[in-house]
Amino acid sequence: MIGILGGTFDPVHYGHLRCALELKQTLGFEQIRFMPAHQPPHRDVPAASAAQRLAMLELAVAGAPGFAVETIELRRNGPSYTVDTLLALRAELSSASLSLILGMDAFLGIESWSRWERLIELAHLVIMQRPGQSLSAAGPRLRALMQERLGDAAALRGAAAGCIVLCPVTQLDISATRIRRGMASGEDMRYLLPDQVIDYIRREQLYVCAISTQ
Ligand code: ATP
Repeated sequence: MIGILGGTFDPVHYGHLRCALELKQTLGFEQIRFMPAHQPPHRDVPAASAAQRLAMLELAVAGAPGFAVETIELRRNGPSYTVDTLLALRAELSSASLSLILGMDAFLGIESWSRWERLIELAHLVIMQRPGQSLSAAGPRLRALMQERLGDAAALRGAAAGCIVLCPVTQLDISATRIRRGMASGEDMRYLLPDQVIDYIRREQLYVCAISTQ
């Protein structure tokens, strides 16, 4: 049972790591892979490079049982459509249970993703529920899909793909944006992200000027 948590991770922080641990424990994943995306094209500000974001993730998961980094999107050229990523992972993993982990906000916008109906054929969808976010904002197609596909931890384990599971996670009000700004203004950012990642950011002189902290 493998879960994939995608993001920019610029930088990775305890909001990401804690959620992943809770999902691992609650749903019984053997492995959660943190999957950094290429720099989004619309973000032309000089934040951390792909290699630096990868290095920070590797430091953050080092020694954490069941946590790993998935580099598939960094290795591929061109735009990273999630459906193409899942096609490649499915080829690698054969019939293993594979879950794409999404925040509720991402799930509510999933109908705008490329070939979105294929996602559920390739993986389960695990949706992290946060306070204040509800499915009532979902359109009729998404609500119908939810009703048809709603499952639990046993359903995730029992099939390779095809279920939607809602999982509440502790809300930690930490964002990478907040960390970039804090680093730029010289704040002490300990306890928001791992010390090893803070040390790396200092060594590489990341997020030092205002333009890199947007
Ligand atoms: P930024 O502030 O740069 O937009 P971010 O902190 O939201 O970044 P991302 O790398 O974009 O981090 O997030 C990757 C995934 O982790 C997304 O699915 C996002 O919803 C989720 N996530 C980010 N921060 C938290 C948090 N504090 N608690 C739970 N999930 C989070």
